[in-house]
Amino acid sequence: MIALADVLASVLDHCVVRAGVEVRSQDAAGLVLAGDIVSPEDVPPFDNTAVDGYAVRTIDVATAPVELRVTAEIAAGSPDIVGVGAGEAVRIMTGAPIPPECDGVVMVEDTERVGSDGVRVLRAMAPGSGIRPVGSDVRAGETVLVAGTIVTPAVAGVLATVNARTVRVHPRVRVGVLSTGDELVDDGSPLARGQIRESNRTMLVRLAREAGAEPVDMGIVGDDPDVVEKVLRRALDSGAVDALVTSGGVSMGDFDPVKLVLPRLAEMSWHQIAMKPAKPFAFGVAAGPTGAVVPIFGLPGNPVSSLVSFEVIARPALRTMMGFGAAAHRPVVHALLDEDVVRSPDGKVHIDRAVSVWGDDGRVHVRRARAQGSHQLAATATANCLVRIPDGAGLPAGSEVDVTFLGPDAGPLADPGGSSGAADTGRGRLSP
Ligand code: AMP
Ligand code: MG
Repeated sequence: MIALADVLASVLDHCVVRAGVEVRSQDAAGLVLAGDIVSPEDVPPFDNTAVDGYAVRTIDVATAPVELRVTAEIAAGSPDIVGVGAGEAVRIMTGAPIPPECDGVVMVEDTERVGSDGVRVLRAMAPGSGIRPVGSDVRAGETVLVAGTIVTPAVAGVLATVNARTVRVHPRVRVGVLSTGDELVDDGSPLARGQIRESNRTMLVRLAREAGAEPVDMGIVGDDPDVVEKVLRRALDSGAVDALVTSGGVSMGDFDPVKLVLPRLAEMSWHQIAMKPAKPFAFGVAAGPTGAVVPIFGLPGNPVSSLVSFEVIARPALRTMMGFGAAAHRPVVHALLDEDVVRSPDGKVHIDRAVSVWGDDGRVHVRRARAQGSHQLAATATANCLVRIPDGAGLPAGSEVDVTFLGPDAGPLADPGGSSGAADTGRGRLSP
């Protein structure tokens, strides 16, 4: 058996970051920038008011209260250049350009209207108050985003702000997903003896999408090696996939076709990973029609093993190809076990499925899902994280363990007990 970290390192060695391509910025969400973004413009593009109020010459309001004459009104978007003399003020709305003679804006809450055209300023103010200066967010010529940045919603907003209509990004990896097994059906028909319903491909397609990749559903094939070979070869030769994920057929069974076929298509390495579930794992590199390296991940068929294998190896590999760098990996959180975990030494790290919650102590606490069998996907589906139980006889309650969360929004749930500090975080709760 090989340590998971060693398998992952050798897989990642073969995962080449895909070259950047130019895309419309609105299509870049969730991808990684392949080049820096330099702003051609100042942001904000002009001095403007941060508040609704009155633009003034601060020299006029050095002592307060003081009355000024209101001579004009400027709304956001107004192109007017308004002159302001001594003892005068201009009614101004948030975002509107500051008149050239003014150097401060009094917020409306610090004023009182006097008659039809006067205002009493109740508080003295320093020059610059209430003004957002030109370029105070971004300067023209500034590198506002660097290569390697993930295009989050906020980053997408910045791209729009600096008028980046197109950007270079590492493209999505198109990943073919194929399930193998004579026993699998997915057409809704009654099960004949020996048949089961297919689940892995449905799950892996979604895992691939959640990883930021573009899944290509290649369906189910039976355990005929020639058919498996034909389907995989066609996918490789067509250039329609940048990576392949297969489910099933990589272990020690007599009819494991993936094991037979992959060496005909790719340079393969076979691993017995020192982990439970998902010990058997195949990895190889084939060549696409243009010579591009196409990694192939042969995942075990047991549904929970498939999921764990994808999470801990295929996901970081696919994300590495998409330029995610350190963010290719799920963040690791230290959590406290809320129960004794009994296991036997077997040379493997156990990657158990668990539910995590915030505790009263401000720490993340975990409890394992109700069942840990590698076929028990329903129990796994109740989990929001994976917890690593190192080799040995197990761990007592209160032990610190490494946890990674599953899914895009996953994180510890608010303590269902309700009295914990978690309530203050607002996470996982409805407002009263
Ligand atoms: P294998 O890795 O092909 O030996 O399969 C191991 C176990 O996982 C067997 O019980 C299979 O029936 C089951 N299995 C394999 N592929 C799938 C699938 N796509 N969906 C659900 N179960 C599967
Ligand atoms: Mg099989």
